[in-house]
Amino acid sequence: MQNLEAFSKLLGSPKNIVITTHHKPDADALGSSLGLGGILKKKGHTVSVITPTDYPAFLNWMKGNDEVIIYEANNQAVSKDLVEKADVIFCLDFNTLSRINELGELVRASSAIKVLIDHHLEPEPFYDFQYWNIAAAATCELVYELLVKMNYESLLDKDLAECLYAGIMTDTGGFRHNNTTANVHNITAKLISHGADNARVAKLVYDTNSLDRLRFMGYALSEKLTVLPEYRTAFFAITSEELKRFNSKTGDTEGLVNYALSLEGIVLAAVIIDRTEAVKMSFRSIGPFSVNDFARAHFEGGGHRNAAGGKSDESLEKTVEKFLSLLPAYQADLTNVKITNQVN
Ligand code: 5GP
Ligand code: MN
Repeated sequence: MQNLEAFSKLLGSPKNIVITTHHKPDADALGSSLGLGGILKKKGHTVSVITPTDYPAFLNWMKGNDEVIIYEANNQAVSKDLVEKADVIFCLDFNTLSRINELGELVRASSAIKVLIDHHLEPEPFYDFQYWNIAAAATCELVYELLVKMNYESLLDKDLAECLYAGIMTDTGGFRHNNTTANVHNITAKLISHGADNARVAKLVYDTNSLDRLRFMGYALSEKLTVLPEYRTAFFAITSEELKRFNSKTGDTEGLVNYALSLEGIVLAAVIIDRTEAVKMSFRSIGPFSVNDFARAHFEGGGHRNAAGGKSDESLEKTVEKFLSLLPAYQADLTNVKITNQVN
């Protein structure tokens, strides 16, 4: 944050605040929004958290969940009003206004002061204040740092610490990815000192599967995984009929892409899913191969170097064809990657 003094002054008196986060919020998106929102409420501000869409039920335990306004769930008018009347709008865990769908143009048009807190590559410059760092594992990590800088840390309680903990836990892949720095562990320790129950959060987020979801995962692993050793690529393509067959709920496909990446020797993993509104894609990679560049160049997306997403307005079949047709141009990049943790 370059103008911390001006930012502190801005929040020095009660304001109408909107906090928003990306399409289909994950634990980092929702946890950072509710964690920051809870603190700002304690400081006397009026705070509304607006998400563009719904999010997985395994995040419903978060403090403040009951008051979240889901834009697409018939809350367009109330959201528009709140965004128009806001003094300050916080944009958390996303880098371009297109990531919040129709809400994006409302935010752009609002005369509110806009604050970006994010860790994605190449943000669109729509904000007045930014706390942005691509080296951060999670937006929750950045929110914690900002709370410390603002002298708000003492306001953290068990519930809010758990919101922030959840985002750090999931964006580091359960403290396994190479973004799990000493800073991450230090902050995590602080959050536990503030009361966060790490085992409880892990259980709520990772170990609350429905039978449908487990069966879907089993089906996808046994029937739907395509492996292309010549491109060190593995992917799943999932039809809308398959989602229906397994009664798939928001969040049920989360984590599937990691199974493709976990295959020995694989450098690029993808999940390509026919959602009704569009074909959505999740990409993961190992080492220097940038799925941010790949998603940005070909699938209207982006994210981080090793985790990104994108979409396509074509059919699932056509999207898979396009994905496959792109691989030869990347063959050298994919096969040159050294997997340092490989045994042989
Ligand atoms: P996931 O594959 O888990 O949905 O997303 C991986 C990362 O890429 C997350 O940080 C997410 O915010 C980002 N991401 C996912 N989809 C998109 C997209 O369509 N556009 C952009 N710019 N980023 C995305
Ligand atoms: Mn994040």
